[in-house]
Amino acid sequence: MTQRIAICGGTVITENELIPDATVLCEEEKITFVGPGKNANPEPGSQIMDATGKYVFPGFIDTHVHGSGGDDVMISGAAGIQRAGKNMVRYGTTAWLPTTIAARHEEILFAIEETRKAQNTTAPTSQILGLHLEGPYINIKFKGAQPDEGIREPNFDELDELLAAADGQIKVMTLAPELPGSLEMIRRLKAHKIVASLGHSECDYDTALAAIEAGATYATHLFNAMSGVHHRKPGLAACCLNEPGICAELILDGVHVNPQMARLATRNKGREGIALITDATTAQGCGDGLYQLGKFQVEVKGALCTLMDGTTIAGSVLTMNHAVRNAVAFTGMNLVDIAYMAAMMPAKRCGVAKHKGSIEVGKDADIAVLNADFSVAATIVNGNAAYSA
Ligand SMILES: [Zn+2]
Repeated sequence: MTQRIAICGGTVITENELIPDATVLCEEEKITFVGPGKNANPEPGSQIMDATGKYVFPGFIDTHVHGSGGDDVMISGAAGIQRAGKNMVRYGTTAWLPTTIAARHEEILFAIEETRKAQNTTAPTSQILGLHLEGPYINIKFKGAQPDEGIREPNFDELDELLAAADGQIKVMTLAPELPGSLEMIRRLKAHKIVASLGHSECDYDTALAAIEAGATYATHLFNAMSGVHHRKPGLAACCLNEPGICAELILDGVHVNPQMARLATRNKGREGIALITDATTAQGCGDGLYQLGKFQVEVKGALCTLMDGTTIAGSVLTMNHAVRNAVAFTGMNLVDIAYMAAMMPAKRCGVAKHKGSIEVGKDADIAVLNADFSVAATIVNGNAAYSA
């Protein structure tokens, strides 16, 4: 029997407008109708979802996630990565990139192999679009919470093995452009259609420009673990704000980036220049307490996740629906543009914007239905009800 879902009466957020009191019809895996009207004649047998008073967002795509719900991309194996994806639908996240940290070569290979196994599922979980390798070729002086022993200079033999193991599934790699060999590595990544994302870096403005020239198109968690906005010594963050050729990840938990700096960033970059991410750890969705982040123990208190020194921020416990809520509060942007930063920009980053990232007829039926307070009411992945509150 053909599976049909009709989402009726909500405020639908498309790529370019808000449509109040609208209906979205999904048939099998695709969106088949988007338009005004509470009762746009769903076929008999459709599952009707009343979205009156709610927002109908495109499913969020999180391109920087280390873990969720107690599972860690580096250590939990394929089953754990699948559980993390299942947990994430509670936050409206319909697709994601499991993200590695700087580690021994074998440990990164393990995470790649387990992620590829985890992709093999038909369960209605957040879909794995590939991997984001955060490091290991980063600057130890800007390591953030990455472990010393995993950090090193670019190594092309290793890269070849990583590419072979991933078989086209590496979508993003974060690296520091000032390291020897980095610019050549950026050219190699570009040739493999992998987004080179600048981060964990102390590079100066000119080095960042050279990296953009070599093919880098993104920066990793803007303002965090990077050279900053100094009026006589502008660094990577200043380059991100100034140069249209580079987009930036932004962690909108109010902890990683002060709300005023978030506003500064979004006013400079606009919706085509920012992708909202969580940088979430295994502790996402687990509440306050002590958790394991790779080899480190971390402590979560509210929105703050730190190493045991109490000051080094170690990833986040942010969720995508809260990133969207905070974007409204911090930036003054409209919901259409915020949805774009939470779904379309990440879809473009992963090379899937033709069939994901917006609510449009013919696209995959990946949808997040949010209440007026941005809590998640329901999540649909590939036309399947994956979560309902
Ligand atoms: Zn990270």
